[in-house]
Amino acid sequence: MSQLVRHIREATRDLDVARVRALMGRIEIELGSEQAMPDVSGRLRRVFGVANFSTAHRAPLDLDQMADAILRDLEGVDTGTFRVSVRRADKQFPLTSPQVEREVGGRIKTKRGWRVDLGQPELTVSIEILPDQAFYSFGKERGPGGLPTGTGGRVACLLSGGIDSPVAAFRLMKRGCTVLFVHFHSYPLLSRASQEKARQLAAWLTRYQLRSKLALVAFGEIQRRVVLTVPAPLRVVIYRRLMVRIGERLARAWHARALVTGEAIGQVASQTIENLSIIGGVASLPVLRPLIGMDKDEIVAEAQRLGTYEISIIPDQDCCQLFTPPHPATKARPADVELAESQLPIQEVVESAAAAVEWEEFRFPELRHRDLAGEVDVLNRVQ
Ligand code: ATP
Ligand code: MG
Repeated sequence: MSQLVRHIREATRDLDVARVRALMGRIEIELGSEQAMPDVSGRLRRVFGVANFSTAHRAPLDLDQMADAILRDLEGVDTGTFRVSVRRADKQFPLTSPQVEREVGGRIKTKRGWRVDLGQPELTVSIEILPDQAFYSFGKERGPGGLPTGTGGRVACLLSGGIDSPVAAFRLMKRGCTVLFVHFHSYPLLSRASQEKARQLAAWLTRYQLRSKLALVAFGEIQRRVVLTVPAPLRVVIYRRLMVRIGERLARAWHARALVTGEAIGQVASQTIENLSIIGGVASLPVLRPLIGMDKDEIVAEAQRLGTYEISIIPDQDCCQLFTPPHPATKARPADVELAESQLPIQEVVESAAAAVEWEEFRFPELRHRDLAGEVDVLNRVQ
């Protein structure tokens, strides 16, 4: 709960929020003014651990005053059916929940003439009884669910500019993990486009975890070395094993407990169980593949809901298009991979790539500017 309170404070720190506090199993966000609600709601939709939320008002612990306040707020609202739903956080209150429901419901019915429907009402008036006051609200909005950011520990996600890996990162973020992004690029052999996409994806995903780091790793020279000695069909697997090794190196330095990739079985010819286990086998940290059993169209739908799809489909030159043979091995043999790798100065390659990493930091909300709702917010990048 305290993690969640802290996260909400930080997620709304540029908005008109007077206070955020835990209050008997729920969290109260006191707004400076009611006009802040749309912006605050927008933020809450991205705070993992929030199951649902609503705009609530306070009322005294007196049935008449409670009903009056509710009726005043319902002026201008019309409905056919309604119900009152009461929860008591304070069991000392002399009336039971059903009694309060009947009392307040009766007053509303008398005044407005609406029909009570306990099953599928068009309007639900929720009341929460606390020791010194009551809250009432009309209807709940679903939050994103999941677990509060920071409760799941750190992981490092290999983030390409593609569709899958941002979705994989999101899945882990939703389960409370803080994700470090690691992107491999082939600049200056190729354009900077893939780096810019990785930045945009990192910025977009930072709106959930609020602070991120992106490691940009130069991979072009490494690929050039691989091409010199490794037979074409094995190259994809060897590139991936190098990415995993370098990723693990960075992950450990950042105290991450696992690596994450966007791989799914059979999505491309090289993503067979055999290859995935050879690729993952090089890591001593666990390699998590949250999309492993998903179809491409399911991943695309999730990327669209998440908003990363639009960034992922921007054309770029992926580092793996360069130097990638048309027919990668679908079942690389461990002995062949080991033989090929014995021709490479693996340790040196990993060390020098890790030493040359460029780090970028992202924050949300950005310190000065306000949320550009719904737009790719690359401005929240801390230079
Ligand atoms: P994606 O859409 O995530 O790129 P993909 O279906 O295109 O996935 P591959 O490109 O073969 O599949 O990559 C498999 C996984 O390897 C990616 O999901 C990602 O985790 C990692 N990966 C691939 N290329 C890179 C890269 N340039 N930088 C960082 N990670 C990468
Ligand atoms: Mg890719």
